[in-house]
Amino acid sequence: MHIKNIFILFILLSTTVIAQKDFTTREYLDDPAWTPREHNVDFKHLLLNISFKPEEKKVIGEVTHTFVTIQKQVDTLFLDAPGIAILSAELDGETINFDIIPSGVVFRFKNPLKWKTQHNLHIHYEATPKKGLYFIGWDDPNNLSRKQIWTQGQGIDNRYWLPMYDEMNDKITSEVYVTFDSKYKVLSNGVLLQQKNDKKSGNTVWHYKMNHPHAPYLIMLGIGEYKIKTITSKGGVKINLWYYPEWENRVEKTYRYSAEMMDFFEKEIGVKYPWENYSQIPVQDFMYGAMENTTATLFGDFLFTDDRALLQREYLSVNAHELAHQWFGDYVTARSDAHHWLQESFATFYNWLIEREYYGQDHFDWNRRMAQINSLNASKKDDKQVMHSQSGSVRHYPKGAFVLHMLRQVVGRDEYNAAIKHYLQKHAYGNVDTEDLLTAFHETLGNSYDWFFEQWIYHGGEPHYKVSYSDVEKNGKKYHQFKVEQTQSVNRLVKLFKMPIKFRVVYKDGSKTDKTVWVENQYQEINIPAQKGKEVDFVLFDVNNNVLKDVTFDKPVEMLKSQALKAENMLDRYDAVKALSNLAVKEKMDLFQEIYNKEKFHAIKSEIVAQMA
Ligand SMILES: [Zn+2]
Repeated sequence: MHIKNIFILFILLSTTVIAQKDFTTREYLDDPAWTPREHNVDFKHLLLNISFKPEEKKVIGEVTHTFVTIQKQVDTLFLDAPGIAILSAELDGETINFDIIPSGVVFRFKNPLKWKTQHNLHIHYEATPKKGLYFIGWDDPNNLSRKQIWTQGQGIDNRYWLPMYDEMNDKITSEVYVTFDSKYKVLSNGVLLQQKNDKKSGNTVWHYKMNHPHAPYLIMLGIGEYKIKTITSKGGVKINLWYYPEWENRVEKTYRYSAEMMDFFEKEIGVKYPWENYSQIPVQDFMYGAMENTTATLFGDFLFTDDRALLQREYLSVNAHELAHQWFGDYVTARSDAHHWLQESFATFYNWLIEREYYGQDHFDWNRRMAQINSLNASKKDDKQVMHSQSGSVRHYPKGAFVLHMLRQVVGRDEYNAAIKHYLQKHAYGNVDTEDLLTAFHETLGNSYDWFFEQWIYHGGEPHYKVSYSDVEKNGKKYHQFKVEQTQSVNRLVKLFKMPIKFRVVYKDGSKTDKTVWVENQYQEINIPAQKGKEVDFVLFDVNNNVLKDVTFDKPVEMLKSQALKAENMLDRYDAVKALSNLAVKEKMDLFQEIYNKEKFHAIKSEIVAQMA
């Protein structure tokens, strides 16, 4: 060995020692649903020919899967098909053997299929599905019920009526021929290529096709007695509004904002609506609110609006949520369940943005407040992070939406939008995971937001701040001093939080001083130089509640009274009113009267009513 080499070895050894000393351990809560499901072929196209015997709740189908092998030797192929009777199967035109097992069917190939070769698997089957596809009203003895057939694929229920690889991580183009009684109309995904009546049989064949790939759980059918109204958004998207013929007078109210929403999202998201058209269809007895099947949102007819304003609001919200999914969920789809938040948090957040357009900033802020309360409550049970398959709907929907709001605050609106646009376009019609989102921000803006994802998405909990305020004098200068302590119990799942927080001092003459500070240590002191001759009216920590958090901040009654009356943002006024709840009624009667008359937002008004009762 040459001496030079020994020297290099020495350097290597010493750097190893140094590096080891510098290692810190990062711990994450494991998620069994992190790993994407394995598959030995890549499914490309699904061609379905389907008819029904509704009185027997029976599906009669013929499906052809076009796939390419992605492993060196493929001698078996499994399809999800629990309870489906496979009648016959052919591979590339030749009959093949298969075994039916409880979860589906295993096809066995005499000669293993070679790597990167394309094949067609053709299957005849019948099913009386207990899930996934529902026959509504066909067995009503009084013949009063509507008669419908509809599907609900998410999470993994399409497999009960359609034998396929039913997993979000392999996208396919789909094409459906439905043969059914001409009395009924049929909706499926994509473009309606043909609708052919056969007078002799009294049936119509409906031929729908998706030109872009989507995930199998988004395949849908909606069949019943409907009329259809077609409108076009300003951006040129055709929107088909399905309705029960006798509900014609409710169409305008229910679907009032559909076209505007389409335009709003195209502008806000910066990516054109990714499909050829968009349909919405109400169905009877739906078990959820609505489902964002690709190009075809299906929703419970209980949301179909009459004159009740509340219901109109409810459908606006559902409508916006499902439409947002056409980008977040359908256009880009989570690779595995661990990343489910990439769909639901986005749909919830973009719904909030639409609601802000129609109902204003206070309403938007109140959505955040509800999210805050629910998140803090959820954290009393466990510290699961947003990115976890089992973290529950509070984390997947409102908490994740609040996190996106914060991300947008931290990054900046234009910057956030640019990164999201890149994220969508880079993964168009594909699968995504949380790292893809993080990477998109880095690729677009050059900044690493790992620290943000670490605390808000990869780890759980929320910051709990204990704040106090006093006027202090240091070296002959006067300051307004805030002391901030993070009191959440820090453990392997919950960290100290780092966030920019806006502090505000409002003076009695109405002027104010703002200071935004990165709060990241367990203890921090923030000093804002006092202004000569100005008296403090009230102070705020985290103006307008932009950070998802719990906070304890005891303020003098006089300060709270001023804050309740004069703070610029609704949530800051609300919090002051709430903080006065222990004050005797006679001490706040006049003030509350004044606020009640001045306030427009319902939450403050009802808080006042509750305290005065
Ligand atoms: Zn959703």
